[in-house]
Amino acid sequence: MSDVASIPAITEIVGGLRYGFAQGTTRPEAWRRLQLEGLRRMLVERGTDFEAALLADLGKPAIESQLAEIGFLVAEIDHALGELGRWMRPRRVGVPLMLQPAAAKVVAEPLGVVLIIAPWNYPLMLALSPLIGALAAGNAAVVKPSELAPATSSTIARLLPEYVDRRAVAVVEGGVPETTALLAEHFDHIFYTGNGRVGRIVAHAAAEHLTPVTLELGGKSPVYVDDSVPLLAAARRIVWAKYLNAGQTCVAPDYVLGTADVLRRLAPALSDAIHELYGSAVAQNPDYGRIVNDAQFERLVGYLRDGEVVAGGRSDAADRFIEPTVLRGVSPESPVMSDEIFGPILPLVEVSGLDAALGFVNGRDKPLSAYVFTERADVRRRWEQETSSGALTFGAPVLHLTVPELPFGGVGPSGMGAYHGERSFRVFSHEKAVLSKPLAPDTLAATIMPPFTAGKDQL
Ligand code: NAD
Repeated sequence: MSDVASIPAITEIVGGLRYGFAQGTTRPEAWRRLQLEGLRRMLVERGTDFEAALLADLGKPAIESQLAEIGFLVAEIDHALGELGRWMRPRRVGVPLMLQPAAAKVVAEPLGVVLIIAPWNYPLMLALSPLIGALAAGNAAVVKPSELAPATSSTIARLLPEYVDRRAVAVVEGGVPETTALLAEHFDHIFYTGNGRVGRIVAHAAAEHLTPVTLELGGKSPVYVDDSVPLLAAARRIVWAKYLNAGQTCVAPDYVLGTADVLRRLAPALSDAIHELYGSAVAQNPDYGRIVNDAQFERLVGYLRDGEVVAGGRSDAADRFIEPTVLRGVSPESPVMSDEIFGPILPLVEVSGLDAALGFVNGRDKPLSAYVFTERADVRRRWEQETSSGALTFGAPVLHLTVPELPFGGVGPSGMGAYHGERSFRVFSHEKAVLSKPLAPDTLAATIMPPFTAGKDQL
């Protein structure tokens, strides 16, 4: 099932997985552990295959691939293997007095056959991280990697079936026609990561079958910096988070808000931090990635006109290279401030102070993340209480996603549902209510059943 699927074959593939699921193949804890261990083995044994694919698709440095894709997945798997017994255990809950004697519990059961649709920017991690949850929860799954990261897509399709049970996991490669054909099938959950336009297409298709969806989308994640923090230290963290994967990270800092005074001092600090992390000849530095394709490159180069370049600004179409760039004097109405940037260009947007910054963020779509650099407790409290975003970090952009028990997901236009750690297991489980009451003693006749004599309304 690892080859590019013809569209008619898709119905057959999904039917095969449904049969495997109906046979009970995926339910035992031992089977789930075997799959997770298989995934882990694949990542370790074939790590260099994946590194080569990620380098071909995105110019991703091998160490970055290890940290942000392969190593991240191995850590998620280890966490799942360590916790699986606890996650699977039924949870006893109390029963009201009038029902006693009785016992109640919540049982996590697998949903069935699920569909995972992944994007190109972390093409391995975002295809397999949801799969960890799906398999831990005892589901069969179709994985549809992004056609815009073709080397990674074909490597997943080639290797995954060698390491996990083919009766329960299939990879379908392809683009819009294949995904459209998949979406016509009935799944028990659809887990989509990508842009909001396609997110709507997925939600429409899912509605036809009343299939629940998780939508991991994007948006413009703001950074706010005030004058209480050491600016070079803040700049270093912003630069790392922004230019990781050449800015093609869903939770990358999109733009920076600050007062004129803070931005005046932050701009050279950002420039110094870029130099510290990537040196002066970034184009020759193997630690820095490339833009995924020509269309994205052209879109991003267009943004370079939207402000005054204070760092970087050079690009090379032949290599799809764009220098880590900082723009100042950017108007909130400019194109670079309208769309999610999703590339290595960082606009600095001037605001008059904290109230204006909060108003700026609240006046736009709820972002996937917000990043605040301040030492002031009252400022932190106001960001926490007065803004809404998928996540909020103080001093640590992007790093929230390395904490397994923090929910990872958006809110409003940045997505619905969240995963990682135990939540990944819950996303792909149904929490079934199970109540058992012995027939004797028959207390119900004396309490809730007719005839409704006096006192029966006093439960
Ligand atoms: P993409 O173009 O690879 O698309 C994502 C998936 O949707 C692919 O598998 C693709 O085949 C499929 N697809 C594309 N068009 C389709 C259509 N018309 N019908 C059905 N399926 C279709 O990736 P992208 O959307 O460019 O990804 C970038 C976006 O994803 C950004 O907005 C980014 O912020 C967001 N993102 C979010 C997260 C997250 O975890 N929240 C992670 C990464 C990326």
